[in-house]
Amino acid sequence: MGSTYMQFAIIILLTGQLTNGHHWGYSKEEQAKWKEQFKSCGGLRQSPINIHKAIGKRMRALKLRNYRDPLPGPLMLHNNGHTVALEIAHPPRNQSVPYVVGGLLTKTYKFESLHFHWGERSDLGSEHTFSGKRYPMEMHMVHRNKNYPTMEEAMKHADGLTVLAFFYKLHEDNNKQLDQLVKHLPSVYVPHANITLTETFALTSLIPSRENMRRYYIYKGSLTTPPCSEAVTWIVFPSAMPVSEVQLNKFRSMFGHDSHTKLTNNFRHVQKTGRRKVFVRIPRRRSSEKKQIMEPSEPV
Ligand SMILES: [Zn+2]
Repeated sequence: MGSTYMQFAIIILLTGQLTNGHHWGYSKEEQAKWKEQFKSCGGLRQSPINIHKAIGKRMRALKLRNYRDPLPGPLMLHNNGHTVALEIAHPPRNQSVPYVVGGLLTKTYKFESLHFHWGERSDLGSEHTFSGKRYPMEMHMVHRNKNYPTMEEAMKHADGLTVLAFFYKLHEDNNKQLDQLVKHLPSVYVPHANITLTETFALTSLIPSRENMRRYYIYKGSLTTPPCSEAVTWIVFPSAMPVSEVQLNKFRSMFGHDSHTKLTNNFRHVQKTGRRKVFVRIPRRRSSEKKQIMEPSEPV
């Protein structure tokens, strides 16, 4: 009973649909008003940001634990009116839930849910940008500091959450791994629809290869949706995964919280970096890695 209530509370918090009883939207005018209803949205450590300069820092690779194991089912896919989210319906108390440690993280962060941001056209959609470049879609894997019992509590602390951010780039062919989710999207086109998946899968199937995750950016920011809590350590991976127009169109066919507009362009405008430092990981040097360290293919 307690845990069911907690999950319900978490869903509401994540979706923002009932946050303080206010509705919010993504149009330019609506985004400008977020800070009137949610004070944090006007803060100095907001997300997303444009990543154009970063300080190279030697740090260990992130350790993604239990990412290769199938997520504890059943999984729930949910259209919350602002995005589509995948959640573990009944998070178990044992260690089989994926979690992330290492890198610059000093705490253990357990996987909570994942969701997407996309655009009506393929030249927009991502929230973070690289030297001004926007990708057609961005996936966020939300992780909660395990010392905090609920999302609500975690959101009150600077070390409350870690979000792993991944980009997609346009490709002719469907991304077969992503199809594990995309094939279910028509079942949640209606706002606030939920479905329970009969299958489960491992989170590694949705992210780049280990090789392509050696490099990442890290900075302190916020939730990119109201209430914009400044509780997030962002870890942004620049190596983009493929997505096809056909797949993107399935996301674009969803309906948003007011039921008659398509759910698309659900990305927040870039926020000021201000005095914050953005670090980029320089992998610990091994002779076999030297080439990759020097490779200038991704912006720094
Ligand atoms: Zn997000």
